Amino acid sequence: MATRRREPAGLALAKSLASCTSCHGLGRSEKRGVTCRCVYRNISSECLERYLNLVEGEAEGRDCFMEISQHGHLMATMKASEYIADFDMAARRALDETEKKVLELYFLKDLIWRQCALRLQIDRGAFFHAVYRTMERLGRELALAEIWPLDAYFGARRVKMRMGAGGAGAPEVPNFRRSALAAA
Ligand SMILES: [Zn+2]
Repeated sequence: MATRRREPAGLALAKSLASCTSCHGLGRSEKRGVTCRCVYRNISSECLERYLNLVEGEAEGRDCFMEISQHGHLMATMKASEYIADFDMAARRALDETEKKVLELYFLKDLIWRQCALRLQIDRGAFFHAVYRTMERLGRELALAEIWPLDAYFGARRVKMRMGAGGAGAPEVPNFRRSALAAA
């Protein structure tokens, strides 16, 4: 018998918006007594941003990214393709056909809302309702599937490397691109 997945505890964390009129930044909707929708929309945004970066990296032949951890370690974040696949599967599970189109056209292909609404044959109001719904359902699924929090997801996939003498300069890692570092 399949166990019913529970809503992850502590979802609110820092993911709610202080400006949210439903939860006022608390992350829980007082009216509905559940995790506020703004939390899920935020999770989607964060995961989508990473997804787009990794897709772009893959297209350029990168399968590994350099990051500086909060403790000052240079890390190689690997398995971009695994994250991309996990994200795709979460989207397929969580979204209906309209929402999948919203994700594809509006978020991934970056079309303007008019073009998306035209293709979906819905009006402006219905389109933006679908955008919100897509972000909420996707965010919830990403959290349930433990793709978010991203630090925890990528943490298991990190290779820690020591910084050079005195903590200055990057170590020699010839196979890795350093564009992420250069941008930091
Ligand atoms: Zn909220």
